[in-house]
Amino acid sequence: MTTNNALPQMNYKDFETYLQNYPNDEGFFGPYGGSFIPDQLQPAMKEITQAYQEICQSSQFINELRRIRREFQGRPTPVYHCERLSKLFGSTQIYLKREDLNHTGAHKLNHCMGEGLLAKFLGKKKIIAETGAGQHGVALATAAAYFGLECDIYMGEIDVAKQHPNVVRMEMLGARVISVKTGQRTLKDAVDAAFVAYMNEYKDAIYCIGSVVGPHPFPMMVRDFQYVVGEEAKDQFVQMTGHLPNAICAAVGGGSNSMGLFGAFLKEPVEIYGVEPMGIGEGRGENAASITFGRPGIVHGFNSIALLDDDGNPSPVYSIASGLDYPSVGPEHAFLHDVGRVNYKYVTDDEAMTAFFLLCREEGIIPAIESSHGLAYAIKYAKEHKHGTILVNLSGRGDKDIDYVYEKYGTGEDLLAKHLL
Ligand SMILES: *Cc1c(COP(=O)(O)O)cnc(C)c1O
Repeated sequence: MTTNNALPQMNYKDFETYLQNYPNDEGFFGPYGGSFIPDQLQPAMKEITQAYQEICQSSQFINELRRIRREFQGRPTPVYHCERLSKLFGSTQIYLKREDLNHTGAHKLNHCMGEGLLAKFLGKKKIIAETGAGQHGVALATAAAYFGLECDIYMGEIDVAKQHPNVVRMEMLGARVISVKTGQRTLKDAVDAAFVAYMNEYKDAIYCIGSVVGPHPFPMMVRDFQYVVGEEAKDQFVQMTGHLPNAICAAVGGGSNSMGLFGAFLKEPVEIYGVEPMGIGEGRGENAASITFGRPGIVHGFNSIALLDDDGNPSPVYSIASGLDYPSVGPEHAFLHDVGRVNYKYVTDDEAMTAFFLLCREEGIIPAIESSHGLAYAIKYAKEHKHGTILVNLSGRGDKDIDYVYEKYGTGEDLLAKHLL
């Protein structure tokens, strides 16, 4: 576990003006964040930062984004009380923020629509991005279609073959999927190819990142676009119950759905838990628990906590949830860890899958495997605490996962019989 002892510990009372003051003008959250990219790209990033800082104050931009969220995305998404699931584990009550009911079935559209609207306001013609499993690509292709923008999605050749349904979705939505045939032909090579394309095309195009990662201003911008999740959830929860939840939690890959939920609660007396994927074990390459096992280092243009090999390169990572297998984490999470405001926990593949099947059977909701990690921790919390309330961000629906899950776990009888949670 990496703790930066130089940072003073902060409790909820220290977060009253946090969102206005973090990150600083250079994009730092304490020692984490910043922009470590080739000089040729700095002007493009500056342009995005300046434009965003102006536009996010403009009432025209804010009102348009609100209208899109309401009329196109179907927001607000509800908060739901899992009465039957909660009963299995004592008297702690588990609640879900239903981001699986957002258009396209996950939270990623929240920042893709924001980035698309920014592109439109900047007069850009095209949006460029990479995708791994294809979820970010599909959300971005959706935004591009909505705004009438061209969309180039870079994807490793191996992922193109593995994620065929998402490739078809992106193409149906009018995006161009560019198969990257260099290196390992997976996500890292797609990131490199997308950056090169952006360097050549930045006058007409904008790069759109898929989480609270990458160089400044992306961690800040994506966080701000996801803030709506926690803002809605806090109001809804208080309206339903008359008080704040005792705890909130969410799965952490790059960290966008979790930052979205956490943002509005940082200044409240609420325990906050980020949940990392422990995969199949603690060995190198067996998990993607970046904060749990990582150390400070620079990857993909920003300083954070990362899983690095002895040469300082990103380690291979694994999780059953393809949206969580990232070797680092957004810089704001590294900061919130070091100052002690957010607690980072982990759950294994099998624990997450147990939560997956429990939610299917007890509540009639098939969750994404990513989101099942957050839910698995909520169940552990419920068992340990025996009272109170915990609110989980159910970041996405599981339709994308069912073929794979069925092949590996059937309908879950064997797993549920083990009582892992
Ligand atoms: C991509 C994805 C995640 C992980 O990304 P974060 O940036 O950590 O939120 C989680 N849940 C779902 C459903 C996803 O598609």
